Amino acid sequence: MDNVSELIRCIDFAAVKHKDQRRKDEEQTPYINHPIGVAKILTDEAGITDIAVIQAALLHDTVEDTDTSFDELNQHFGPEVCGLVKEVTDDKTLPKMERKQQQINHAPHTSYKAKLVKLADKIYNLRDLRRCTPCGWTNERVHEYFVWSSKVVAGLRGTNKKMENLLDDIFKERDIML
Ligand code: NDP
Ligand code: ZN
Repeated sequence: MDNVSELIRCIDFAAVKHKDQRRKDEEQTPYINHPIGVAKILTDEAGITDIAVIQAALLHDTVEDTDTSFDELNQHFGPEVCGLVKEVTDDKTLPKMERKQQQINHAPHTSYKAKLVKLADKIYNLRDLRRCTPCGWTNERVHEYFVWSSKVVAGLRGTNKKMENLLDDIFKERDIML
């Protein structure tokens, strides 16, 4: 199958899976804007055109946030894309705080392609937080999220200069020591 068809299949799959979900911003933006935006950061800003990376970006939250299984991803999109999504999926059986620590611990040990998806995901979420504060979040919680993200990003460095520079600017703006 050609690349355009592959990408449309991923967008369609993610859109159906995330159809009832909204982001945490006050406007309750449709959730699908996020995976599409992560893919766009990779293609437009990071200069990445590797098809498996873009597919994984489009599908990266389907297992974590919907009823999608890795078997399903494997069947529809093959082992490489499924493996990449697995690398960027948190273990939902762990308590939230442990999951956050796991992201920091695991980041340096993920593959190059998974690191690309993780960097773009962090850029998108931090820009979202900079744009507006999610319902019920205090400024302190927002700040803690930036600090935690900087620790995850520390383990992803040496992967893509363009995205790392974008993140450096975001952290500097917040006076976060790198
Ligand atoms: P969460 O993990 O609860 O939420 C952040 C995640 O939500 C992002 O990583 C992103 O994940 C997704 N998301 C959806 N909409 C947005 C948006 N508009 N902007 C940014 N991200 C969005 O946040 P915390 O890390 O703060 O919380 C971790 C745990 O600690 C939770 O259980 C929370 O309830 C608890 N807690 C934390 C406090 C704190 O001060 N840190 C205070 C009170 C409670 P994705 O890319 O997967 O969509
Ligand atoms: Zn995400």
